[in-house]
Amino acid sequence: MKISFKEIEILVSQLYGFDEPKVFLEQYETDGKTVSFFLQKAYQDLIQKYVIDLGCGTGILTFAAAFVDAKFVLGVDVDISALKIALKNKKVLDDLGFSLPVDFLCADVKKLYLKKKFDVCIMNPPFGIQRKGADRIFLKKAFEISDVVWCFLSQNSEPFVRKFSEENGFCVTSSFKTKIQLRRKFFFHKKNVEFLPVDIYRIERK
Ligand code: SAH
Repeated sequence: MKISFKEIEILVSQLYGFDEPKVFLEQYETDGKTVSFFLQKAYQDLIQKYVIDLGCGTGILTFAAAFVDAKFVLGVDVDISALKIALKNKKVLDDLGFSLPVDFLCADVKKLYLKKKFDVCIMNPPFGIQRKGADRIFLKKAFEISDVVWCFLSQNSEPFVRKFSEENGFCVTSSFKTKIQLRRKFFFHKKNVEFLPVDIYRIERK
């Protein structure tokens, strides 16, 4: 790793966010501090690995994994306008001299069929607040295509995550609490700076 967590935090904080975030897709980007927190926990799982980022949005976690020397990272999102921003962000990073091994695919996670498995799945997906069950669809897909999963979910989701993982032959090996700093975006966000408490899970095939 040729770049520090602090430098990654600063770089990803400067990338483009969602232009017009879509409420029904629960679009908000992970902030730089949270990215750095996540990487410090997860980087050993990512080094030299094939990684997939489900619901990658503007690509923050995709780039983050590539910064800690993942072999290749595929970002997947259903929203083409989010992926256009991800590509714009890739260009920004290319121009800064970081040519990262990433690519993007436009697909609905529910209908995603891949020939190749990935070593690790990372995701900050919809939490199922706007569309019930969205979080389950993401977890189910992650369990299908990889043996190690790093997943952001809403606070207090632990009993559900543990049970759902067990039912699918996986188990939670660690969990961490943090807060995502949201840029003021949706009309129902009253304050200028909102924090969203989240749990980050590491889940492994048994
Ligand atoms: N992971 C990104 C974005 C989080 S927002 C980050 O951490 O910054 C959640 C993302 O999931 C959005 O970009 C949204 O478009 C995407 N999404 C929602 N439903 C989806 C689905 N069914 N298939 C693929 N992507 C989906």
